[in-house]
Amino acid sequence: MTTLVQAVDLIKVYGREPNLVKALDGVSMHINEGQFVAIVGSSGSGKSTLLHMLGGLDRPTSGQVIVGGKSLFEMNDDELTVFRRRNIGFVFQQYNLVPILNVYDNIVLPIELDGNAIDRAYVEHIVKTLGLAMKLNNLPSHLSGGQQQRVAIARALATKPSIILADEPTGNLDSRTSQEVIGLLKVTSRQFNQTIVMITHSEEIAQLADTVIRIGDGKIVGGKTS
Ligand code: ADP
Repeated sequence: MTTLVQAVDLIKVYGREPNLVKALDGVSMHINEGQFVAIVGSSGSGKSTLLHMLGGLDRPTSGQVIVGGKSLFEMNDDELTVFRRRNIGFVFQQYNLVPILNVYDNIVLPIELDGNAIDRAYVEHIVKTLGLAMKLNNLPSHLSGGQQQRVAIARALATKPSIILADEPTGNLDSRTSQEVIGLLKVTSRQFNQTIVMITHSEEIAQLADTVIRIGDGKIVGGKTS
């Protein structure tokens, strides 16, 4: 298997003594291409900080993140912004859809913003896989939470990113819908060989991923590969 993402001895410190917080305390890990990874841990354990580092949204105090052979924190801010836009897809708890655009336009928006041609066959495949074919003309406000999250996943997939980072993607969904959405993330990971890293505080949700990485007090405290 090909390693896609590598984190090397990540340390992130917030604040100064006496209010210093070590949010990440020497995290090293690797993620393979096509792997669906859940990072699980209680509130305050460092999950969001780790996800932000893996996506180049924030810089660590020390350590490295290498994505597809590129060392993120050796880039300057402009280079990092471009790299993120081209290589990293995000799915958030709050969906972050554009309310005045219909489902189709939401899905293709990032492709258009980057000035790229839309691969219609690919988008159609994603739309079908996520069960959104009948909803393409609907506005987000006419969709359920689970459907809105499926649109957000489709939007992330459509740009063919190297990696999708999902921050508590089921945080606003009931348990049955959560299972369904995670099931679809897993299907898309398989069908499109899409690497996905998701954070969750729910053990139940984490168990649906291929690999579970446990984090506590800014350190990896366990993991399981299925
Ligand atoms: P989780 O996502 O697991 O809830 P976080 O990564 O958000 O955990 O936070 C880890 C620790 O770092 C917590 O103690 C949190 O209070 C602290 N922290 C996170 N972001 C900041 C920040 N911007 N400034 C200061 N402390 C922060």
